[in-house]
Amino acid sequence: MPQKAFSILIADDDIITQKMIQKMFTRKGYQVLSVGDGAEAWNMLQKRYFPIVITDWHMPKMSGIELCQKIRETTFPGYVFTILLTSRDSKADIIEGLEAGADDYLTKPLDYHELTARLKAAERILTLERSLKESNDSLKKALEEIKVLSITDPLTGAFNRRYMLEYMEIELKRSKRYNHSFSFIMCDLDHFKSINDTYGHDAGDQVLIEFVKSLKEVIRNELDLVFRYGGEEFAVVLPVTKIAEAKILAERLRSHIEKKKITLKKNMIQVTASFGIYGYEPGMSRDITIKTIINAADTFMYRAKSRGRNRVEGERDI
Ligand code: GH3
Ligand code: MG
Ligand code: MG
Repeated sequence: MPQKAFSILIADDDIITQKMIQKMFTRKGYQVLSVGDGAEAWNMLQKRYFPIVITDWHMPKMSGIELCQKIRETTFPGYVFTILLTSRDSKADIIEGLEAGADDYLTKPLDYHELTARLKAAERILTLERSLKESNDSLKKALEEIKVLSITDPLTGAFNRRYMLEYMEIELKRSKRYNHSFSFIMCDLDHFKSINDTYGHDAGDQVLIEFVKSLKEVIRNELDLVFRYGGEEFAVVLPVTKIAEAKILAERLRSHIEKKKITLKKNMIQVTASFGIYGYEPGMSRDITIKTIINAADTFMYRAKSRGRNRVEGERDI
């Protein structure tokens, strides 16, 4: 007999009923555990998840009604289908049982064929619930993946420009509110076009990947993020960082990149980049926007280009 997917917990103070049900369903391939009271069943449910609970109504310490109520107030790894066994079958009792959270009920003396049929119905519901949960989980996972993809540049793995604008907006707002500094580094590879022209576009792509790797090797703070602004232009956003500190970091980035050797089609090449820095500091005009910051960093970056490339430029005032 193959093992059934759903395990059963039985709570009944009538030992004969308890053992009869246990024996019958164990024989049918279910994993069955039986206890003599609602309180014991409740303890057991704290330790282990049972998708099916068959419970007597009257028990000495905790009634089946109370057990059903407690089950409904608690979150388990999956749904707990409860079947209430009762010697009462007045309409009012049945309503009370269902309102307490029981999913189904059976009147004693038990008809085991009926119990088997009810259990099959319970399994249909639990199977449906399980497959819904699985679809839900995989949808959630897919959504997470889409979210990551939507903010990532597929070539380099750096975050994309869209996310950069979003991240900067949030960080600039936070900096103004809490009087923090906020820095922004813009960088652009020097003479990158000639790499494409000499080694081909794929090799150029490889250089962009290596370039982002190099930036990440130096940047260790998890709040400092690397973005691809466009083509061969990248940016580093540094929350809670003074412009003077950002300049030191940019200098470290510049020198790390300059020293790195990249192998392209058996050729060892070196690349350099030019950096422009700007940001927000307490005391500056509160009207400053991310656009002002980006434009200013860009202007500084072009100043670095015009002053010979492989340089860092950036002052508080343009
Ligand atoms: P400068 O030092 O003034 O920045 O010179 P440069 O050659 O780096 O700049 P320019 O703007 O003249 O050329 C940038 C080149 O980058 C042109 C473009 O084809 C290339 N490029 C942009 N995006 C990609 C890409 O994703 N892959 C590759 N391989 N090349 C790219
Ligand atoms: Mg360039
Ligand atoms: Mg460029």
